[in-house]
Amino acid sequence: MTAACVVCAAVILLLVIFAFSVFKTRENGGSASKDPVMPEQSGGEVTAGPEEPEIQEGTEAGGEEEEPEEIPDPNAPKIDDDSVQDINSVVDTEMESDEGDTKRVYLTFDDGPSVYTEEILNILNEYGVKATFFVCGTGDSDESLRPVYKKIVDNGNTIGMHSYSHVYSKVYGNLDLFQYDLDKIRNLIYNETGVVPKYYRFPGGSGNTIASLPMDQYISVLYSQGMEYYDWNVYCGDSSGTRLSPSAIIKNTLEGVDKRRTAVVLLHDTGSRKNTVEALPGILKGLKERGLDIRPIDDETPPLHQVDEAMDNN
Ligand SMILES: [Zn+2]
Repeated sequence: MTAACVVCAAVILLLVIFAFSVFKTRENGGSASKDPVMPEQSGGEVTAGPEEPEIQEGTEAGGEEEEPEEIPDPNAPKIDDDSVQDINSVVDTEMESDEGDTKRVYLTFDDGPSVYTEEILNILNEYGVKATFFVCGTGDSDESLRPVYKKIVDNGNTIGMHSYSHVYSKVYGNLDLFQYDLDKIRNLIYNETGVVPKYYRFPGGSGNTIASLPMDQYISVLYSQGMEYYDWNVYCGDSSGTRLSPSAIIKNTLEGVDKRRTAVVLLHDTGSRKNTVEALPGILKGLKERGLDIRPIDDETPPLHQVDEAMDNN
C-alpha cells in the first residue's frame, strides 16, 4: 500500500514539473523582447550560418585547390635530410656509355643549390673544371640561395633540373603532378638564369622503384618537350646512411671512374654534405692526374640511362 502511494506521488510530481516547464517555455516564446538569449539565436540562425560557408566556398576554395600543390617550399629544405636522399645509391655496374675514344668524365651535383654551392663553384674554378648541377627549388625556400642559380651558369657550368620539390609523392604521384613540378623548376631556372633548361635527372634515378607509374611514361613527358635525362654510372656514396669521410668519397669516385670509358659521376650539393665539398679537390686532382677529359653535359653528351628503353638510341 505505501509503495503504491509513493509511486503515485512520484508520478504526480513529474506531471507537475512537466506542466510547469511547458508553461515556462510558452511564456519565453511570447516575451521575446525581454529574453536575453534571443540575440544569439537570431544571429546564429539568420546571418552567421549561411554566410560564412558561402564566403569560404566562394573566395577561398578556388585558391586552395592550387595552394596545397604550390607550397613545396617547406619541402625543399628537406632535401638536406637523410630521409629524403636519392633512393638509388647503388649503381648498376652493367651500365656503360662508351661513345668515342677519349675517356671522359662528367661531374654532376644533385639537390642544390645549397650553402655549399658557391664553395663548390670556387673549387671547380681553381681546377678549371666545369660541371653539371641538377638543381631543385631550394632557392624558393631560402632566399639567400636565389642568386646561386645564376652563379652556376655564369661560371660556365650546365644547369639541369632535378625536380622542384624532390618529394617523391609530388614528383611521381601522377603525370599531371610530374608536369606541374617540372614546370615549376623549369620556370624557376629560367627566371633566375635566362637559361631554358633541357636536361633532367630523375630523383632516385630513372631506375627508381618508387614511382607510381612505369618510368617510361615520365620519360615520354620529357621527350615530348624536347628534354633529355641523365642518370649516372659512378656514385661516390656521399648520400648513403653512413657518412663517408672525404678520403672515402675520393676513393669511391676515382675507382668508379677508372672502370668507365665515359663516367657520369653523381655527387651531392646539399647543406649536409660538407664531406663532399672537402673531397672535391682530391677528386679533381685525381682526375687531372689521369689526364681525363672533364666536361659539363651538353647536347653532344650521349644520354646515360639506367634503364634501357626503345627510345634510347645510344
Ligand atoms: Zn636528389
